[in-house]
Amino acid sequence: MVDVKKNIQNIRQRIREACERSGRKEEDILLLGVTKTIGQELINCAIEEGICELGENRPQELKEKYPMFDGVKWHLIGHLQTNKVKYIIDKTELIHSVYTEKLASEIDRLAKKIDKVQKILVEVNISGEESKGGISPDEIDEFLKTISKYPNIRISGFMTMAPLGADEVVVRQIFRKMHNIYVDISTKKYDNVYMEYLSMGMSNDFEIAIEEGANIIRVGSKMFKI
Ligand SMILES: *Cc1c(COP(=O)(O)O)cnc(C)c1O
Repeated sequence: MVDVKKNIQNIRQRIREACERSGRKEEDILLLGVTKTIGQELINCAIEEGICELGENRPQELKEKYPMFDGVKWHLIGHLQTNKVKYIIDKTELIHSVYTEKLASEIDRLAKKIDKVQKILVEVNISGEESKGGISPDEIDEFLKTISKYPNIRISGFMTMAPLGADEVVVRQIFRKMHNIYVDISTKKYDNVYMEYLSMGMSNDFEIAIEEGANIIRVGSKMFKI
């Protein structure tokens, strides 16, 4: 069986070192456990190790796992189709992957029904890869203005992903560019826009992400696989 405890200790050590290198505080970084395809037993090991916020990339899987664990905060981190919002709206702490007005308005509509203000992140496609979701950097201001009119969402920051297998220099450039935008937007004081979270960095690049300003890292395989 995979030693989840050891994996988490190892990840935490690496987080600590990345924080030391970049003058950041370990307690400012949220280590999100990404549990897609992972079973209950291994997830319980992570919870025992103090991982209390979990991320799923598919709404159905989040819905199925939700009743299995108490006291966990759930994040939807993958692409979300408008017609699937209903499965998760009452279960999510944070939705990381909003980049169309259609989705924002549906989240707003369903959140309103249950008297919730749903925190969301805007997904940004910095690298411009065709296969990736997210808005392009030059559309951000307009998009924020467009979706800020929905009262039952709270725009809480940005999420981005580096291209798979890109080398470190490229990954760092992407994360740095995202962080610069995050800082820039936070100075603009748009209505209903709060730059609280910057979600970037996965198993292979979370240290770079921390050094470049992430405060949520999303780690799956390094936590739950060998
Ligand atoms: C799967 C996934 C992750 C975690 O990826 P690992 O490389 O396994 O750490 C992070 N973010 C999103 C959006 C994912 O789908």
